[in-house]
Amino acid sequence: MRVPIVRSVARLRQIVAAWRGEGVGIAVVPTMGVLHEGHLSLVRAALEKADRVIVTLFVNPKQFNSQADFAEYPSTEDEDAAKLAPLGAHLLYAPDAEEMYPAAFATTVSVSGVSEGLCGAFRPGHFDGVATVVAKLFLQTSADFGFFGEKDFQQLQLVRRMARDLDIPITIVPCPTVREADGLALSSRNVRLSPAERAVAHKLPSVLLETAERLARGSPVLPTLAEARAAILAAGYREIEYLELRDEADLRPMTSLDRPARLLVAAWLGGTRLIDNVRISRVSTD
Ligand code: AMP
Repeated sequence: MRVPIVRSVARLRQIVAAWRGEGVGIAVVPTMGVLHEGHLSLVRAALEKADRVIVTLFVNPKQFNSQADFAEYPSTEDEDAAKLAPLGAHLLYAPDAEEMYPAAFATTVSVSGVSEGLCGAFRPGHFDGVATVVAKLFLQTSADFGFFGEKDFQQLQLVRRMARDLDIPITIVPCPTVREADGLALSSRNVRLSPAERAVAHKLPSVLLETAERLARGSPVLPTLAEARAAILAAGYREIEYLELRDEADLRPMTSLDRPARLLVAAWLGGTRLIDNVRISRVSTD
């Protein structure tokens, strides 16, 4: 069993037109490849919701703010295709950069508000690159459903906002973060961790969870976040880019837990940047 691979927009459109003729529902799962269980959980969820599932594999140069990071990003297309086939994914769409951004390409999709702060503050241009490529993938596939991981929570909210604002008729389906047994969120970047770094990496999600629980029980926000920062650094992380409490819906900063919130973090462990986030629901003390 093999998953068909398509590299051109024209061929993709032919296949999608035939599916439309059959009246089936179509889902898209955008990825940059190097597929792990996190990605595969999105594909499984998509297969439950839609009759046809397109997985996209495109390492998008426009969303890398560092050329070195882009150059180092691994590519494992054969292995990725082999992982998708047994799940029953219907198509792997893997265009090259010239197909996605032909000569004279000049359009950028930029989403204000949700893209500001957090990763947006530390990765200039990143979310413009994400919004531009995801808008193109939505229009190229004309999918009814788009599946995204909560692991990249700011990206998820940005994609939702973009699709609504541009009237792209797609329903965005969020999927929970898949974690290793010790709690570390699965990420294509985890392979860059040395054994010593991997041994302490799980302390990021454990501090995050513990902090979320303390905040939910009414612990004061600013001192609790300060203690969490100290705990992350004491665990061996080199630098914290941000650790912030944000409104879950629009990602506006929050200083008290009067509505559903998300605690989000980005931190460097040696030369690897890791991100994570958890939901906080206020525990009623009434
Ligand atoms: P990427 O290939 O890193 O661009 O990720 C592609 C999609 O997989 C995005 O929607 C991510 O949020 C999602 N994803 C990545 N890691 C995980 C994870 N550990 N759990 C759930 N979804 C994930």
